[in-house]
Amino acid sequence: MKDTILKELNKQLNNELCSAYLYLSMSAYLQSQNLSGFSNWMKVQFEEEQAHAMKIYQFIIDRGGKVELADIPSPIQKWTNVIDVFEHVVKHEGEVSETINNIMNISYKENDHATASMLQWFINEQVEEEANVSDVLSRLKMIDGKGTGLFIMDSEMKTRKFQPIAQQK
Ligand code: MG
Repeated sequence: MKDTILKELNKQLNNELCSAYLYLSMSAYLQSQNLSGFSNWMKVQFEEEQAHAMKIYQFIIDRGGKVELADIPSPIQKWTNVIDVFEHVVKHEGEVSETINNIMNISYKENDHATASMLQWFINEQVEEEANVSDVLSRLKMIDGKGTGLFIMDSEMKTRKFQPIAQQK
């Protein structure tokens, strides 16, 4: 594997762990707001990001590359309300998609088909991810992020469970 690709993959491994840490912070914030359903949903998000990181980690190892673990900075820990949280998530996932697209471009440029094939999973995952979080945000806005609507939505968010990557479609 070329150094340019290895560097990008290690960077992305760190990005996924930073995302996990951000979502864990959001989970704690939502719990502090007595939104245990939203907090659960975000904890599943935290678990998913760790699984993304491990997918890249394993790929680097399988290709004989060296895993380099960089710092994970302290994430933001305070938001105005649940709508503010999900606006942040939508923006964050948009940035993640851009980063993945960029690594895909580099792997095409380097003729690294194995990396491109692995990244295709992430490209598809990001389409779903962005659709999901945008849907949550628009429904939150519909109910103005409060009252009975929020109470019902919080119960719904409680049902989300983490599924390991192999079991995802
Ligand atoms: Mg991810």
